[in-house]
Amino acid sequence: AVSLRDVHKRFGEVEVLKGVSFDVAPGEVVAVIGRSGSGKSTALRCVNRLETIQSGEIEVHGRRVDDPQLDLRALRRDVGMVFQSYNLFPHLTVAENITLAPRRVRKTPQAEARHIAVEALARVGLSDKIDAYPEQLSGGQQQRVAIARSLAMEPKVMLFDEVTSALDPHLTGEVLKVMEALAKGGMTMLVVTHEMAFARRVADRVIFMHTGKVWETGAGEMLANPQTPELREFLANGL
Ligand code: ATP
Ligand code: MG
Repeated sequence: AVSLRDVHKRFGEVEVLKGVSFDVAPGEVVAVIGRSGSGKSTALRCVNRLETIQSGEIEVHGRRVDDPQLDLRALRRDVGMVFQSYNLFPHLTVAENITLAPRRVRKTPQAEARHIAVEALARVGLSDKIDAYPEQLSGGQQQRVAIARSLAMEPKVMLFDEVTSALDPHLTGEVLKVMEALAKGGMTMLVVTHEMAFARRVADRVIFMHTGKVWETGAGEMLANPQTPELREFLANGL
């Protein structure tokens, strides 16, 4: 579903991605781990063209993302992205937040949009909050609404960038549970995370990035049996 081939990305003089290659097969969950500044977010942002690359190839569902002719709107519809900060509109209800994009982009009629919100909220376990405002929700609930908002666009791939890092531990769990359910439901997911237990248990594959490269990759067990000193050090000391 997603493939990166020898991707190079520079910001000015600084090369941040130095030939990154990996694939995410349809229905696969791939976790990306690594130290701060190793290029995890940049790699994700290249996949939905929030960043342009200098060389290499990125494909999403057979479509070249690095093609200047690319239909960006179609790409963003197919690729959902959820960040650390959930960026809900405070003056809109949960339902309105979720249906804003479908109504604008897909011209979905209001009654149908409501139905989409109902379904998306059921998937994140928040059916009872449909008419609440963001400030009436916990951080974990707001993040689940942000996930529901992405799901409402019926993406083929979901990108998650440290969606739990701003949350208290007890709120982190409820968001991870939603992500795990999505994974079990067959969603194709690329997940940057610091949650090693989640990576080990839920991800089909783990990618350890270090200094702009894929340093080590393997099944979840690689976290119990690191092959490089860099991964060993990262697992021991974190950031
Ligand atoms: P973290 O775990 O802290 O989120 P990360 O692995 O996601 O780190 P990136 O955000 O991808 O790291 O950043 C990789 C490198 O690229 C860093 O050195 C960062 O300073 C640099 N960088 C990222 N975005 C920009 C930008 N817009 N302009 C210049 N440099 C950038
Ligand atoms: Mg990051």
